[in-house]
Amino acid sequence: MATDRAAAQAPRSLDMIIVGAGFAGLYMLHKARRMGLDARVLEAGSGAGGTWYWNRYPGARCDIESMQYSYQFDEALEQEWHWSEKYAAQPELLEYVEHVIQRFGLAEAIQYDTRVEAAHFDETANRWRVRASTGEEFSARYCVMATGCLSSANVPHFENKELFQGPIYHTGQWPHEGVDFTGLRVGVIGTGSSAIQAIPIIAEQAAELTVFQRTPAFTVPARNRPLTDEEEAAIKADYPSLRARAKQQILAFDIQFNERRGSEVGAEEIRAECERRWEMGALNWYGAFADLLTDPHTNEIVSDWVRGRIAEIVKDPATAQLLTPKTIFGCKRICADTGYYETFNRANVTLVDVSEKPIEEFTARGLVVDGREYAFDAIVSATGFDAMTGSLNRIDIRGRAGQPLREKWAAGPRTYLGLQAAGFPNLFMISGPGSPSVLTCMMTSIEQHVEFIADVVEHLGSNGLVSIEPTVVAEDQWVEHVNEVAGGTLLNGCNSWYLGANVPGKPRVFMPYVGFPAYAEKCRQIVAAGYEGFALRAA
Ligand code: NAP
Repeated sequence: MATDRAAAQAPRSLDMIIVGAGFAGLYMLHKARRMGLDARVLEAGSGAGGTWYWNRYPGARCDIESMQYSYQFDEALEQEWHWSEKYAAQPELLEYVEHVIQRFGLAEAIQYDTRVEAAHFDETANRWRVRASTGEEFSARYCVMATGCLSSANVPHFENKELFQGPIYHTGQWPHEGVDFTGLRVGVIGTGSSAIQAIPIIAEQAAELTVFQRTPAFTVPARNRPLTDEEEAAIKADYPSLRARAKQQILAFDIQFNERRGSEVGAEEIRAECERRWEMGALNWYGAFADLLTDPHTNEIVSDWVRGRIAEIVKDPATAQLLTPKTIFGCKRICADTGYYETFNRANVTLVDVSEKPIEEFTARGLVVDGREYAFDAIVSATGFDAMTGSLNRIDIRGRAGQPLREKWAAGPRTYLGLQAAGFPNLFMISGPGSPSVLTCMMTSIEQHVEFIADVVEHLGSNGLVSIEPTVVAEDQWVEHVNEVAGGTLLNGCNSWYLGANVPGKPRVFMPYVGFPAYAEKCRQIVAAGYEGFALRAA
């Protein structure tokens, strides 16, 4: 696998290679260095921040409260950092990332503009050999994939795309210098979380905005606002309590969770709770009822209530009807917006349904739907990601006997705990498929995984062991368990990216694990039982 340039040099030898400088990679690096390991982060981008480095589209903002969407491993960091808004915007999240890098002196161990292309396990040396886009080669005992769950852009194939004369921007690969849409005719493809944040802002700038919608999403008001000094002080006075409460919640962030089931109360009471949640905003909706995502009847009443709000806000009945989701509320991730439905009352905004008649082709001037050409100066592709497996599968990862991970995962990802795959010793995934990851506050899940991996490394070192990997039996049982848990919910009931249903040809498998507390407890039990389900090998 050596290129000419690299062939002349011996691979750089390290204890741990970490792929990706997002929140996961940065904490892994900090932890590894504290343990005295020679660790290095290889990052494809020219800066750190992962998701927040790439997703710079107008309106990009976190949908989990800033005070919770932040590291908790260092009390002084928690106390000194000030978030200006309830939900942090992308630039502020990047400022936080830079602060963390400086505070913990991480910069010297991060190598930017270095995309990892291959990682092969050398069974004789018991080491991972990693090749980067720079031509460099590295060798390390441990390889940690901190590659992110939503990092591989989904760029659908459209006929004649190359003919279009204007720019096409993917929300997940947004130009750093920003885009000024003032006075332009703009087309947006997609109506997921990214589009829903971007559309109201683009509509204010553009001369005309046309939105191409395949499936309407459920979106609720974010209710973002500046964070008051009093709120910040109250949380900081007892941060550990907030963190502890969060870890007891399925989603690993603290929301007002209603223990009552919709099935125990009447429809009127369900609607009253919907009123409250509408005012609370954002992902608080997940806490509306204990059975929101398990009981179709409760869910339908809630769904109908939200549908009613769309009909109230959007003035044109035909547009309101098109914007109304027919699906299960919360089956796809609930979106949080600022003025999304109101945007469709603007004279310069048009909604085009592409559910029955998809985009036929691009032309030099724009694109064609149902035989009609729409002309644009710029097109925004808010078409999402090849989630969870995309960023791993685009690296040529090979384990024992040269087995490619892509081949092992041809029918869907197989892992134990979303942390490791059988046949790939000492290769770890942070928030991999089969772990709570995207169904939780990522920061909490990331920290739990980094700490698990750090404990594993410590355990191997202090017991004279050289490698760890799951047994095939444990992996099979875990995959079955992940499916079983998801099967007890309504989450399998729509074409979501949790299932891989958004990418043509991707195997339809529910990828994340539902329930952070149960997962974390399972991890604790496995460790207490001497890493049950893992094979640990001595030299
Ligand atoms: P997404 O939810 O997958 O939405 C992609 C959109 O593009 C969907 O409306 C999809 O339609 C449409 N689409 C895809 N291919 C198409 C095609 N060939 N023709 C027409 N339409 C097409 O992606 P996203 O909006 O980037 O969000 C992904 C995830 O990122 C979110 O669920 C969330 O977890 C995270 N995110 C979070 C925030 C936040 O924190 N506030 C913001 C942005 C993103 P279908 O639905 O029919 O597939």
